[in-house]
Amino acid sequence: TSGVADTDKEIAAVLSGELKRQQDQIELIASENIVSRAVMEAQGSVLTNKYAEGYPGKRYYGGCEVVDVAEEIAIARAKEIFGCEFANVQPHSGSQANQAVFMATMTPGDTFMGMDLAAGGHLTHGKNVNQSGKWFRPVAYGVRQQDHLIDYDMAAEVALAEKPKVIIAGGSAYSRHIDFKRFKEIADSVDAVLMVDIAHYAGLVAGGVYPNPFPHADIVTTTTHKTLRGPRGGMILTNSKKLAKKIDSAVFPGLQGGPLMHVIAAKAVAFGEALQPEFKQYARQIVDNARALSDSLQSAGFKIVSNGTDSHLMLVDLTPKGVSGADAEVALERAHITTNKNGIPFDPLPPMQTSGLRVGTPAGTTRGFGTAEFRQIGAWIGEVLDGLATGGDNSAVEAKVRDEVLALTKRFPIYA
Ligand code: PLP
Repeated sequence: TSGVADTDKEIAAVLSGELKRQQDQIELIASENIVSRAVMEAQGSVLTNKYAEGYPGKRYYGGCEVVDVAEEIAIARAKEIFGCEFANVQPHSGSQANQAVFMATMTPGDTFMGMDLAAGGHLTHGKNVNQSGKWFRPVAYGVRQQDHLIDYDMAAEVALAEKPKVIIAGGSAYSRHIDFKRFKEIADSVDAVLMVDIAHYAGLVAGGVYPNPFPHADIVTTTTHKTLRGPRGGMILTNSKKLAKKIDSAVFPGLQGGPLMHVIAAKAVAFGEALQPEFKQYARQIVDNARALSDSLQSAGFKIVSNGTDSHLMLVDLTPKGVSGADAEVALERAHITTNKNGIPFDPLPPMQTSGLRVGTPAGTTRGFGTAEFRQIGAWIGEVLDGLATGGDNSAVEAKVRDEVLALTKRFPIYA
């Protein structure tokens, strides 16, 4: 049969255009990564043809004996990575993993507690436009104004006052280690289930450079495509047999039909990679690079929320430069540096403007950048945004940085 280049010129152009964009830009979006060819090969395979509703050995379709092996391997590797007893690798995304936990542990109208979105929490942790905020009753803890660290005392007080059924630790823009033991004590004080969403940190946990939420967490959810460097998808982990049963029923038949067996095979491949010794080195390098980028941005006159980072990401406070996150994101993209605008704690600007940028090192580290390259990237961000702050024509500065970025990305090719 013919490939997409022969059958569909429009989509073939999208595929080659996106490849070139990824090759030629510096990817600083903290939730993105660059997967191996092996992961892509598994995902783009004949497994996409297979229906396999149910779980290995207990399917509602015939012909599942081969794909069962992929799911069993994915589960075994996930348990080995995170040191837990049960894994459900079927959620199509991180959001669906979180929805499944809600379905397994609560009924609509029940109260749960998560980190405020403005402090770095995720949409699925109770935002009013998300199902979590529409069908359930969210209460929130935040970060402290003086140091932007999680306000554990506030979390304990809110829990005591509101008696949530579930407490969520974890978020999308929190750069520091989270004290999972403290969260478990808070959850135990009100008999709540502790759910830890390590979507952002999973690869760092796998590499041993970020605290493992086990044995403290009752349930752990994650995406598989961020620091963990697998295909887009989700996963749910637990040590409790009782919860595992409820989680399995919530994922299928509660929320989903047929699992994406091609994605599950790609998850297995990525988990196999995460178990290799090189992955530990990769995880360490991600954090070293983030510290180098943070130092470099501070030298360039930016403030960093919480004054640094323990992970793969940081929030850059742009207020010293007087530019918004929205304007900064667009100017940097013209210079081939991809970031996303992001609110900072207590941000005076609305979410479509913001006073901050979120930047991270997982993708750059995968392509081989070290601390020297990330220091240079911090300096380039400074140049572009200092130019933007003057309010004049910034095109010469952006073009100069773009040329330098292109020279760097050529030295660190991807999918060559
Ligand atoms: N949880 C956290 C903490 C996240 O950062 C994200 C992704 O942004 C998700 C869940 C949702 O993942 P997905 O985009 O796969 O639905």
